[in-house]
Amino acid sequence: MLGADPLPGLETVLQIMTEQGDPAALRAVVDRHFAGADSLIVDHIPQVPGVFVSDMDSTMIGQECIDELADFAGIKNQIAAITERAMQGELDFAEALTERVRLLGGLGEDAIQQCLDERIRDMPGASTLVATLKAHGCDTVLVTGGFHQFADPVAERLGFERVVGNRLGVAHGKLTGGLVGDIVDSSVKEAVLRGAVAARDGAASLATGDGANDIPMLVAASYGMAYHAKQKARQAANGAIDRGDLRDVLRLLGIAEGDWVAA
Ligand SMILES: [Mg+2]
Repeated sequence: MLGADPLPGLETVLQIMTEQGDPAALRAVVDRHFAGADSLIVDHIPQVPGVFVSDMDSTMIGQECIDELADFAGIKNQIAAITERAMQGELDFAEALTERVRLLGGLGEDAIQQCLDERIRDMPGASTLVATLKAHGCDTVLVTGGFHQFADPVAERLGFERVVGNRLGVAHGKLTGGLVGDIVDSSVKEAVLRGAVAARDGAASLATGDGANDIPMLVAASYGMAYHAKQKARQAANGAIDRGDLRDVLRLLGIAEGDWVAA
């Protein structure tokens, strides 16, 4: 059974409830008939989630931090090409990450702050999304295959309560070319989501992400929103935002604009 229910006044947002249908088949129908519509396909009226776990790069911020940082080392094209293939799911995530971090070895640590100041910008709607979910009692976690050195200030600015990420090794004011601690990959992202849900007694969960390394997290969430995502992530998730900004996540969850909180 398919019920397509455009929310009042919004032509590009579709909340679709299916009782028996195959979500993947419905996704194909939606894409064929409502090309470009932002959509969520679920078997119930969406609830306000108790847990929100999000990717950072190209999801909560508009950039890939490692690509921007590489520009300060004069190797942005080389690094960005690897990042693109990793996010498309064409390379092993950990190997691709290790290789890119190795190439950054010797770069001055102060390039991180300069990169944050000059390059890194919040995704439109990010602060409203986080503030509104928190106001509705949601726990928030930023989980990134990127680096604490970027994610900690981004999380603080946007209001995330917890950060899980990788950490660039630094010694004597320069990047070592290595990482400190275990790598945060797709399985860790999924585990973070599942752990946060368990801590809230199985509450409904929301995940947002754009890359192949977000797929297990997106699939494990009650509402997995692929945000201007790579094709593999988009196909795996039950929600897709290709046109609007992060405020469309709130629209798809049925949280009325009057209940949004501006950060
Ligand atoms: Mg990303």
